[in-house]
Amino acid sequence: MSFADKLLINGQLVAGDRTIEVLDPATGEAIAVVACASESQAQAAVAAAKSAQPAWEALGWEARMALLLIYADAIRERAQELTEVMVREQGKPLAEAQGEVYYTEAFVRYFASLNLPISTIQDDASGKIEVGHSALGVVVGISPWNFPALVPIAKLAPALLCGNTVVLKPAPTTPICTLLLAEIAQPIFPAGVVNVVTDQNDLGTFLTGHPDVAKVTFTGSTATGRKIMANGAATLKRLTLELGGNDAAVILSDVNVVATAKKVFDASFYNAGQACLAIKRVYVEDSIYDAFCDAMALLAENAVVGRGLEMSTQIGPMQNPAQFEKAQYFIEVAKRDGNIIAGGTISEGPGYFVKPTIVRDITDGSELVDHEQFSPVLPIVRIVDAEDGLARANRSPYGLGGSVWSADAGRARALAARMQAGTVWINQHLKFGPHIPFAGAKQSGIGVEWADLGLAEFTQLKVINEGY
Ligand code: NAD
Repeated sequence: MSFADKLLINGQLVAGDRTIEVLDPATGEAIAVVACASESQAQAAVAAAKSAQPAWEALGWEARMALLLIYADAIRERAQELTEVMVREQGKPLAEAQGEVYYTEAFVRYFASLNLPISTIQDDASGKIEVGHSALGVVVGISPWNFPALVPIAKLAPALLCGNTVVLKPAPTTPICTLLLAEIAQPIFPAGVVNVVTDQNDLGTFLTGHPDVAKVTFTGSTATGRKIMANGAATLKRLTLELGGNDAAVILSDVNVVATAKKVFDASFYNAGQACLAIKRVYVEDSIYDAFCDAMALLAENAVVGRGLEMSTQIGPMQNPAQFEKAQYFIEVAKRDGNIIAGGTISEGPGYFVKPTIVRDITDGSELVDHEQFSPVLPIVRIVDAEDGLARANRSPYGLGGSVWSADAGRARALAARMQAGTVWINQHLKFGPHIPFAGAKQSGIGVEWADLGLAEFTQLKVINEGY
């Protein structure tokens, strides 16, 4: 198949001054050579966005909504192609790619249904005060490799709706999905409104420090988030940072062990564990610990690991060689600090495959529990009781998500209220949607994405205070 391989700068699909070789993680072989921008091309993208912004804002909310809906339709028309590209460059199983593409369109459609109306907070004999929103200007959106279509789109759509123009930069190991979204956008939006540049992990500093960029919306690691914050300080950039997580699941002894294990397994090994909102550590009450570990081991042993394009595949490869090495490192940590009861090996042959690995008899203080492993190596920690589990869950510097599992809804709710995370699920994990605000607590992020709260982050609050 042929792949989208051009940058989008000032309304034109152009070749890069450099190139990137894109690998299929299921084989380790190159599948495409695509455009990679130089710094002068990134500069041209920012300049185009800056010059297009006033007219785009002046176009008005309704007209921008209409163009977003046309974009959503165009994404739907090419959903099959986007899905195949995603499986090839990212590695995820077909069903997961279909899900991501479905959400990609749904996020555009959802934002195209929102409004940020002006509210009148005072209107009396002394005057009238209105609170509204204006655009910020040029927005830079930087995304990781685990959700190469949904993450950039969930930044692009709200930014555009609010009257901003955008420069997107995907991760170097999964550029093609974003380049395809650029190709789809090209005939729809005025020149300069949507720009997409790629890099080799070397244009982030330039883009996030650029004086003509008003806001950076970033999804990626906490370490990179810190750099972006420091880099944006000189020009006081608006920032939304969705960063790393180490989501804990606290499982109380009154659950149905087998049914809960299945749900916990699915939420841990989604995208081969390479999801910010996947369960990364499991805390289980003592009386069901052995049974729960056994149920998880059985699920891991029966899980089908393979190429994403095979219909039977449940777990695909690690996305890139660095991730593959990271997973193998965590297997070594697991051998040292706990007992591996399923998996613990990489697959023979080409591709970056790691068997889903269940680790028991491990506890806090191990790197596998305390750090974000971002790979299919899951620690299960024994806890004395719910309070013990909650204390351990809250000890992390991260606070992206977490979950509480219990047959007693009242007890689960009380624990959820005290869990330090931006999202706490009860008897489920990883359920998300465009209408649900998403925010990380502690070092998992700053700001909110999605929903009307996330939309407002792409605007400047504007008060008009008129005296009579
Ligand atoms: P990463 O931080 O290494 O890279 C993310 C993006 O930042 C890439 O596009 C990369 O090219 C770019 N980048 C690298 N250096 C930069 C710099 N100095 N300035 C600006 N941009 C720079 O992260 P990754 O390894 O690609 O992704 C995995 C991480 O992302 C995990 O920690 C995961 O939890 C996190 N993540 C978070 C969410 C969320 O919503 N919270 C979602 C997905 C992934």
